[in-house]
Amino acid sequence: MHSALGAGRSLLIGGRWEAADDMMPVTNPWSGEALGAVACADAGHVERAVASALRGAAAMRLLSTGERSRILHAAAAALEADNERFAAAITTETGKPIRAARREVARAVNTLRLSAEEAVRLAGETIAFDSFPGGEARSGYYVYEPVGVIAAITPFNDPLNLVCHKLGPAFAAGNSVVLKPAEQAPLVAIMLARLLLAAGLPEEALCLLTGRGSDFGDALTGHADVAMVSFTGGAHVGEAICRAAGIKRLAMELGGNGPVIVMDDANIEKAASACVAGAFGAAGQNCIGVQRIYVHDTVFNAFQAALLAALKALRVGDPMDGETDVGPMIGATEAERMIAWTVEAVSRGATLLAGGERAGTLVRPTLLANVPDDASIACHEAFGPVVSLFRFTDLDAAIDAANRADYAIHAALFSESLRTVRYAAARLRAAGVMINDSTDYRLDAMPFGGAGRGNMGREGVRYAAREMSQTKVICFHDA
Ligand code: NAP
Repeated sequence: MHSALGAGRSLLIGGRWEAADDMMPVTNPWSGEALGAVACADAGHVERAVASALRGAAAMRLLSTGERSRILHAAAAALEADNERFAAAITTETGKPIRAARREVARAVNTLRLSAEEAVRLAGETIAFDSFPGGEARSGYYVYEPVGVIAAITPFNDPLNLVCHKLGPAFAAGNSVVLKPAEQAPLVAIMLARLLLAAGLPEEALCLLTGRGSDFGDALTGHADVAMVSFTGGAHVGEAICRAAGIKRLAMELGGNGPVIVMDDANIEKAASACVAGAFGAAGQNCIGVQRIYVHDTVFNAFQAALLAALKALRVGDPMDGETDVGPMIGATEAERMIAWTVEAVSRGATLLAGGERAGTLVRPTLLANVPDDASIACHEAFGPVVSLFRFTDLDAAIDAANRADYAIHAALFSESLRTVRYAAARLRAAGVMINDSTDYRLDAMPFGGAGRGNMGREGVRYAAREMSQTKVICFHDA
């Protein structure tokens, strides 16, 4: 990867790839192998990148919607044709099991195709100016115009599809982008940038800055010529970005603490297997992963047994092995945090039903019960392979408990009763309620975002493209 990038020339500015004096390694979290070194951008690179992206924004604005769509379709086709190389790269730099990495590539192709379709659909409407006295002699319409330069900042866990969720809608709407991928997983983003340029993207429409967000993030998000910051990541970083950005358009896709409610009339086997897949896929490093499961008292023991059986059937280990279900976490520090939070919960009375062990970056799928509500593992986003079971008898109490987390994306409910489902769906505080599915379901075309503190904006291509646009009204006075 190192040599393929030309000795770490990983900064894309003005259509050219550059290195920097300061370089940082990228490491395979499973093997510890060094995958190469990327350049660390600084404030000077930000200045040049934003200047280039301003020219790129002017070029994108002039590009017909048909041409934007053609480029995005071409990129989708090229990604589909190269899917195995991209999947292997995702697994190598994040430790995501290869089957999940292949799914991510397929989803990214879909995200780019949706963006290509959105490019030619993003149209305004005529306005009935004569609907109010004084407007009789007027007619007109509104259009969507691009906002300009968008700073797109992405996390490590879906290093391809989450980047596509920013670049696709941004280009569909005629913007340019300065992309800052996560420092642990920048290589797939570099591959995608090359692919987009080869598909015909104007060369200044995309700049890519690798390195540490703490070094140059403020310079980028606070830059006066950046019209919008579209961020996906943790809440603390999101808060810092909002402070640095000042007055500009912001999209904040933050974390969650996925609650699932299992009712007494649920299909227990189906619920248990969905919860295990939703809790431990990508080693739990998933913003909509299952974290807390509230189980009705009458089915608690049966559900716990089914969950344990499904958990024990998981294959844990080498993420490149096609049989592996659960691979490593992104780094040893994150794995240590998972164990520390598990130990804290157990020291405060929780029961460890499975897992709780770590070897390097690998944390065994961990199941806890009797966790105090204010234990770290219950009240903060875990973002790791640890799930907690809670017992309830009253649905309202379970809904209150599910709603207790600060940050919310999806909630889920297993029940065969339409009345129960409708009642709970209306009361769960979430941006999506999955019925008879775990929290871990997302279609890339659906509106997606947060419902808790600090959330701003929606992704899902069509919704993001509108947020990356501004309306302009054209009004003709005929009198
Ligand atoms: P993170 O630590 O918040 O980092 C996210 C991105 O922000 C990285 O590119 C990071 O760069 C950058 N960054 C850090 N400090 C910055 C600053 N001061 N200014 C500008 N950018 C800065 O998140 P992560 O650990 O990569 O990912 C996990 C988090 O993402 C979880 O909370 C998860 O729930 C959330 N997530 C949300 C969604 C969603 O759609 N809602 C999807 C996936 C993940 P460095 O890597 O260089 O620090």
